[in-house]
Amino acid sequence: MDTQMLIGARFEAGTEADETILNPKTGEKVLDLPEASLGQIDAAVEAAEKAFIDWSQTTPGQRSAYLLQIADAIEREAEGFATLEALNCGKPINAVLNDELPAVVDCWRFFAGAIRALPGPVAGEYLPGHTSMVRRDAVGIVGSIAPWNYPLMMMAWKLAPAIAGGNTVVFKPSEQTPLTALKLAKILADILPEGVVNVVLGRGETVGNALINHPKINMVSITGDVATGKKVLAAAAKTVKRTHLELGGKAPVIVYDDADIAAVVDGIRAFGYYNAGQDCTAACRIYADAKIYDRLVADLSAAVSTIRLNRADDTENEIGPLISRRQRDRVESFVTRAREHKHIEVTTGGSVLGDKGFFFQPTVIAGATQEDEIVRREVFGPVVSVTRFTEPEQAVTWANDSDYGLASSVWTKDISRAMKTAARLQYGCTWINTHFMLCNEMPHGGVKQSGYGKDMSIYALEDYTAVRHVMIAHG
Ligand code: NAD
Repeated sequence: MDTQMLIGARFEAGTEADETILNPKTGEKVLDLPEASLGQIDAAVEAAEKAFIDWSQTTPGQRSAYLLQIADAIEREAEGFATLEALNCGKPINAVLNDELPAVVDCWRFFAGAIRALPGPVAGEYLPGHTSMVRRDAVGIVGSIAPWNYPLMMMAWKLAPAIAGGNTVVFKPSEQTPLTALKLAKILADILPEGVVNVVLGRGETVGNALINHPKINMVSITGDVATGKKVLAAAAKTVKRTHLELGGKAPVIVYDDADIAAVVDGIRAFGYYNAGQDCTAACRIYADAKIYDRLVADLSAAVSTIRLNRADDTENEIGPLISRRQRDRVESFVTRAREHKHIEVTTGGSVLGDKGFFFQPTVIAGATQEDEIVRREVFGPVVSVTRFTEPEQAVTWANDSDYGLASSVWTKDISRAMKTAARLQYGCTWINTHFMLCNEMPHGGVKQSGYGKDMSIYALEDYTAVRHVMIAHG
């Protein structure tokens, strides 16, 4: 197992306090990893600064070739990466190997192609006697900070567009899930010039805080909690850093009376509980028309009670545990508080599962109302609420009545109704008759307090490059 940080071309251990890495399936310790000192963070930023001089002047074709090599290397070692990710996050091995790894590899390949085909306005004589052109150049040194729910995928979403755009990076994985980042660091050091990517370990309040306040870091990219995003913005104000924020979500799912209920049930069973609901786009806040509400609650509860988890043979598991005891306790406390309302019924699940690890039963909470905490706050666990509506207008109003704005879905057989609803939803993404599906060609990101950074797609390259105007006087 790789345990050392990457600073320039050097691999070294942090010199500060240990963080204990746990196996969420058992609660047992995997190992202790010390975090970086301020001196080590400075050294990583200096390495990125030095590397920027040459890296930012490489051609898109040259950078593309590096990204393709990285994609190939991850693909070759897919099983090793999947095993480590499963160990560190508690994910079922098949989910990581078959869902996440191909998407990660494709992300690197997508940006290898996209950087060679950036669109832009046409150069020309917009003032007589002068030729103007637009350039898209690197922003500089990016401080990149990732969460624990999809460690290797978040690393791909952040690193691939950043280095494709000619930037250099100091990357910090979540202190809870650094193992695949350390393995990828080995590959990056073999392939990339020294200092283009540096990987430092540590907690948010120490190492993360040092990165977001570092005077030489030009841009901060973070995926995490809204509260963390606000801290990034406050720190960025001091030196006017560019920011790329991907924050939380509380995805509404509007189910109209003409929806295919079997498809809705299948969809929510899969997309409300995938990764144990630790997903900012999880289909967690259902609004169901009163005409189909009872059937939906009954069928969904029956379907959710069959989700397989905590089985000895991991290949049978559909979802894993939560990432930590703290997260599991947090999820449990949401359900406990919801139960205190007379109008709420927990129709399946609702409890901690097993006596080891951090498992929580897949849970359906019926009868929730718009004012309830369970409808308003992000749980980030395997818990879905169902709320009844009688007027379609009410469903759209309630769906938009949220501080979050990341993902949403609409379920109906009426395409006109679907399109009218999609046009009114204030979310970065609206799916129609599905949920959760992402592809590297399309943007992922939010509005409102879910942030504004776009991951994947050409829009991520726009975020990680600066638009510049160059004008030549003909003389
Ligand atoms: P978190 O905000 O606690 O941590 C995310 C990262 O930020 C970690 O690496 C952490 O060390 C770092 N961090 C924490 N405090 C910091 C500080 N003061 N300064 C600098 N860095 C700091 O979030 P989490 O618990 O790891 O992840 C779950 C959250 O992430 C959820 O709210 C979820 O919705 C959100 N999320 C959003 C997306 C998206 O695409 N919008 C994707 C995944 C997760």
